[in-house]
Amino acid sequence: MKFFLYRGIFKCGECGYSITADKKIKKSGKEYIYYYCTRKNPNHKCTQNVFTREEKISSQINEAIQKVSLSDDCADWMLKEIEKERKVKAQSSNFFAQKIKQEIAKIDEKLKKLMNAYLESVLNIKEYQKAKNKLINQKQVLKDKLKSFEQKSDNRFELAEKFIKDSKQAKIIASKENPEGIRDFLKKIGSNFQIQNQNISF
Ligand SMILES: [Zn+2]
Repeated sequence: MKFFLYRGIFKCGECGYSITADKKIKKSGKEYIYYYCTRKNPNHKCTQNVFTREEKISSQINEAIQKVSLSDDCADWMLKEIEKERKVKAQSSNFFAQKIKQEIAKIDEKLKKLMNAYLESVLNIKEYQKAKNKLINQKQVLKDKLKSFEQKSDNRFELAEKFIKDSKQAKIIASKENPEGIRDFLKKIGSNFQIQNQNISF
């Protein structure tokens, strides 16, 4: 099977079937790669009988990426803002985490006292176990709270950062005019890419 840059990426905008590729050699000896609909959808007689040259697809992708990508200044500014907000949030989440940790330490202290009460025969084994279980449960609830809280606040900033970095990267990829990079980027953002009447759409 021959290698074609955009094979498997696009679907036909009319019938939804895969766009395939082939190579044509002109009399001049110049090679062209073009893409076309296989028109094999049994439920729809596809009328897309035009071929789209690979360069045409590449230049359209380039244009689209340039349009959606952020300018470097803007992206850097946004990353800085996110970093600032992350610091502020980290401080308040530290405060919150600290409070939960203090609660947990208090429970640990109570557990110790409980143990002593049992050892000094102030409590019998049943009383001791009942009180102990109650404290252990409380401790677990606090631990879970702490864990989910830490995860949540991290994820949000990571997502925002990733989005900005991706869109910055998109521009770099497009400006370098490396079709493989563009193709990989398309695969990564994975959307519904179509070709119809030689025009690509996302
Ligand atoms: Zn089609």
